[in-house]
Amino acid sequence: SHPAVGERDLVYGIGNTGLSIARFLKRQERQAVYVDSRPAPPGLTELSALQPDAEVIVGKRPLELLHAVRRVIVSPGISDQDTLLEAARAAGVDVVSDIELFVECARAPFVAITGSNGKSTVTTLIALMCEADGKRVLAGANLGEPALDLLSHETPDVYVLELSSFQLQRTRSLPAKVAVLLNISPDHLDWHRDENEYREAKYRIFREAAAVVINRVDDEARRRMVSGRTCRSFALNEPRRQNFGTRQVDGETWLARGDEVLLPAAKMKLVGRHNLENALAALAAGDLLGLHMPAMLEALKTFTGLPHRMQFVARFNNVTFINDSKATNVAAAIASVNSVEGKVVLIAGGQGKGGDFAALAGAVHDRLRALVLIGEDAAKIENAFAGRVPVTQAESLPAAVTYSAELATPGDTVLLAPACASFDQFPNYQERGVAFRVAVEALQS
Ligand code: ADP
Repeated sequence: SHPAVGERDLVYGIGNTGLSIARFLKRQERQAVYVDSRPAPPGLTELSALQPDAEVIVGKRPLELLHAVRRVIVSPGISDQDTLLEAARAAGVDVVSDIELFVECARAPFVAITGSNGKSTVTTLIALMCEADGKRVLAGANLGEPALDLLSHETPDVYVLELSSFQLQRTRSLPAKVAVLLNISPDHLDWHRDENEYREAKYRIFREAAAVVINRVDDEARRRMVSGRTCRSFALNEPRRQNFGTRQVDGETWLARGDEVLLPAAKMKLVGRHNLENALAALAAGDLLGLHMPAMLEALKTFTGLPHRMQFVARFNNVTFINDSKATNVAAAIASVNSVEGKVVLIAGGQGKGGDFAALAGAVHDRLRALVLIGEDAAKIENAFAGRVPVTQAESLPAAVTYSAELATPGDTVLLAPACASFDQFPNYQERGVAFRVAVEALQS
């Protein structure tokens, strides 16, 4: 039987998230029409296997359907300025993210993590800390398994969700047990209307949270924090009371909670000051979850980091090669260069997403031996450096690796930290990282 008008959902986007929505709706025995403006979206074959009877419309935006659907469930990759979404809003149809559906159905408390950079690292750290403390935990959403797929497993003690600004903006209610906002720097300015909208979406994470973790050197985050909430702050400076930071003991940096020192930073396997911040944020969240300190510190001592984030690839001719393909915006690339000792041959470029390359140049030019550029926005980046660093334009990533190895002098690091998205040349940042590793290995042999 056909469902009544307005009973069906419209699922917009047939990719990874779209498929997780399809699996969820199937479990719920709910009808939907599946739409993608691309003629051959990546999830099409899998969708027809999953929902053989569902109506599927690709290669166009069927605005006329908006009058006959309950709501639009949209994938994070689709911009708010998309014609179908604008028409939906004009017609008064709800536009929601997969996270909205997750929140409606989750049977266990969840931690929500957002920020411009460090989300995946902190999400993983918090999950590892929970595990080390004997909790059953499921982590995912923007990272790894889509949020709705997490609901198909046995209910855990706690969920840990990495959320993008896109997902936050389209979620009405988000009653997290703990909400973590790591940092905000301009990103995705091609997706959001402006920087203010991007910031608003990120602060959204605090609204219904029971407890919050904030970056205490971000003045605006402090102001936006709803008062009366349980709160822990983190930053690299010295912490007061139950907050997290670092302290110097006999010339050595220690992680600390208030006056109490916890662990020498050197005992962690993650590199870079930004990862020290990430560790402190994870400790603060774990503390709010009631995890035991020894278990949390054990997780910090053993975690070696996620692939494509400051990942050691090789060292030969006394030159170190590091893959930070996940540094997809300017702030991440700056953190990346700053976590390397000695001079850097930086491989950057790709799709710039409106990023501020003058800020990149200003922050790192005196750390660079040379800059090797790839991709669509290579010329933009070269202009921003305005002759302050020797620049080579490379026709491909493998060529960039070859040039970089020639430009590096002993003791240098060749660093892939593109400050850009990869989509002009690769399916995603992972493939870009793999291409880097393969090219480095080819040079070595
Ligand atoms: P996200 O999931 O937010 O993209 P990741 O944990 O995957 O964050 O890290 C992505 C990149 O961002 C890293 O490779 C590093 O270059 C940079 N980065 C990580 N943590 C931070 C931080 N706290 N501050 C600034 N940059 C960071």
